[in-house]
Amino acid sequence: MHPYHPTHTAIHDWYTIHGRHDLPWRQTRDVYRIYLSEIMLQQTQVGTVLERFYAPFLERFPTLSDVASASEEAVLKAWEGLGYYARARNLHATAKLTQGALPQTAAQLEELPGIGRSTAAAIACFAYGEAVPILDANVRRILYRFFRRRTAKPPELWRMAERLFDSAHPYTYNQALMDIGATICTPQSPECSACPLRVQCRGSEMPERYPTPRLRKVKPVRKRIVWIFTDGERYGVRKGEARLLGGLYGFPQSERDLSGTLLGEVRHHYSHFTLEGRVVLTDERPEEAVELHPLDAIEALPLSMADKKALELLKHHLL
Ligand code: SF4
Repeated sequence: MHPYHPTHTAIHDWYTIHGRHDLPWRQTRDVYRIYLSEIMLQQTQVGTVLERFYAPFLERFPTLSDVASASEEAVLKAWEGLGYYARARNLHATAKLTQGALPQTAAQLEELPGIGRSTAAAIACFAYGEAVPILDANVRRILYRFFRRRTAKPPELWRMAERLFDSAHPYTYNQALMDIGATICTPQSPECSACPLRVQCRGSEMPERYPTPRLRKVKPVRKRIVWIFTDGERYGVRKGEARLLGGLYGFPQSERDLSGTLLGEVRHHYSHFTLEGRVVLTDERPEEAVELHPLDAIEALPLSMADKKALELLKHHLL
């Protein structure tokens, strides 16, 4: 018998009663719908994905073939507001590479752009029932606590994931662990008394000790002028080149002050910094090349969140 058999049984029973069965990506075996949910959930919380992004994206692109035949710009437009746009570019690249038909094993899925080992395992397990463990941030935290480890390198974490894994019920086990990590074994106040792992969990006496908390870095603030150049009828935007916002459009930014009309301020948190932008409407041409478009054409382009906010200020000013 598996050494963690009692835990497996408890997890299975817990999931039957408490699992989040109504999540739309758990009510399908369609690999594209599962893949899309996994990519969206990589850096965005379940609630946000559910409320604002998952269904509209599927409405716009019902199949992966629809993604493959769309332009990257159209995919980015549908991703607008979700952030971490490399995900959308990789989704588009994957759709094109596979011509809309994803492979069926975790090993093959992992070869595709934007799909790491854990995401590949989740897709293969949830769509095809492959018996492979996953290792997202929630599962990782459970493993640190279950095995009472304060630190561990990725290969050790994968070994821990395999040791605890219930290969007889891969779907239920993986889904349950994600739910338990999100709702019970939370970073700040784990509720061990409600947890199905508690009987064999070695860290349940002092769960907050595992893993060693990482020091939070204070994000630097970048102060910029958001430069809205106008020739009187059209406005200047440029396509981002950097990894962060590649493929998205936005207004140029400047570190120096400009003469013009101050429309307001925008503030947006990126993963590594916070942008504080003063939005200025001016007839002074920016140094970098811009495309000139009327307002409604700019609204139709995929824009970063900060630029969307700047555009709102401009529209408000023009009212
Ligand atoms: S018993 Fe406590 S520490 Fe262990 S997995 Fe459950 S919630 Fe986390």
